[in-house]
Amino acid sequence: MTAAIYTARANLNPLLIDAPADTDKQTTPGGQLMITTDVENYPGFSKGIEGPELMMEFRQQAERFGTEFLEEWINKVELQARPFTLHTENRIVKADTLIIASGASAKWLGIPGEAKTPKGFGGNGVSACATCDGPLPAFRNKRLVVVGGGDTAMEEATFLTRYAARVYVAHRRDKLRASKIMQEKALRNEKIEFLWNTELAEILGTHEHGVTGVRLRDTCNGEEKTFECEGVFIAIGHKPNTELFKGQIEMDTVGYLKTNGHSTATNIPGVFACGDVQDSVYRQAITAAGTGCMSAIDAERFLDHLPVEMPGGEEVTIEGELISRDRKLIIEPTGEVIPNEPVFE
Ligand code: NDP
Repeated sequence: MTAAIYTARANLNPLLIDAPADTDKQTTPGGQLMITTDVENYPGFSKGIEGPELMMEFRQQAERFGTEFLEEWINKVELQARPFTLHTENRIVKADTLIIASGASAKWLGIPGEAKTPKGFGGNGVSACATCDGPLPAFRNKRLVVVGGGDTAMEEATFLTRYAARVYVAHRRDKLRASKIMQEKALRNEKIEFLWNTELAEILGTHEHGVTGVRLRDTCNGEEKTFECEGVFIAIGHKPNTELFKGQIEMDTVGYLKTNGHSTATNIPGVFACGDVQDSVYRQAITAAGTGCMSAIDAERFLDHLPVEMPGGEEVTIEGELISRDRKLIIEPTGEVIPNEPVFE
């Protein structure tokens, strides 16, 4: 949305393509903020603001400057040549530059009982977002299980102790992956109990009452037992939504798109990435908005025939000239190498 606001205001005629709402694929147009309740740390809202309300403000701001919106799945992208080609369900879209802001999604365990209701208990006692769902009456004063051993799990477990009767962290090993400070906070919390060397084999319940328990498996000896609880929070990390770009854009081992922090350029000249799809560390609304702004300015520079820094440190122009990392050489699209020296008239 921020990239759309900036590019629209710069008269670049942006088209914002968003995934339609889909319960099976768990997508909501507008992304993660649409499934967040109170946003208390986005600057400018001293009393806090609901995620969907903040998103609506962004959308109206982008609309005000002429952003067009399309809610359709993109099935295929062709990024070998400009203009880039995007094949959506019903049309073919051509674009001079592409800004990817497809975000990241929570990872799931893939065990019985975890799927969205009515197939499982997702949304009926199973969640992947404590900040979104923890305050709901269904979880208040209840026994809750949090799965995971990283910072997300520690953060979610700690947060849930505000509402729950007791929080059990089930971790598949006997050592946490979380940072020391987050570990200590959770380990010190009297409402949190750790279930070490434990994985979830199944989530149990009824459609009438929601979650009633879980089947736990000891990862050392394989023994299983039933454990009573009324809620399960899966907190085993996120995966970037980059499936569509596999084989075309450089990614890290997890699948996050590679940019270098100095700019939002990817390895393909004219393709930029912003927000959680290229950020496994900060993952905040404000940092996503910040990189969204950067990507719009980078796209604008690129279209204005100015050089933009690539992930490897070299610069590229829309004409396909490459400027070396040390800025001493220009490699022409023909392969000719010339010194990058000041020109005096
Ligand atoms: P991580 O990848 O760090 O941790 C994931 C955890 O889930 C690990 O303990 C892992 O176990 C466990 N896990 C993964 N898959 C499974 C599975 N299939 N079954 C059971 N357990 C599983 O992800 P996080 O989301 O916790 O953190 C990602 C990044 O975001 C980190 O850099 C983190 O520091 C950062 N972050 C920072 C926060 C903050 O500072 N406030 C808050 C949240 C995240 P195992 O350890 O055995 O691999």
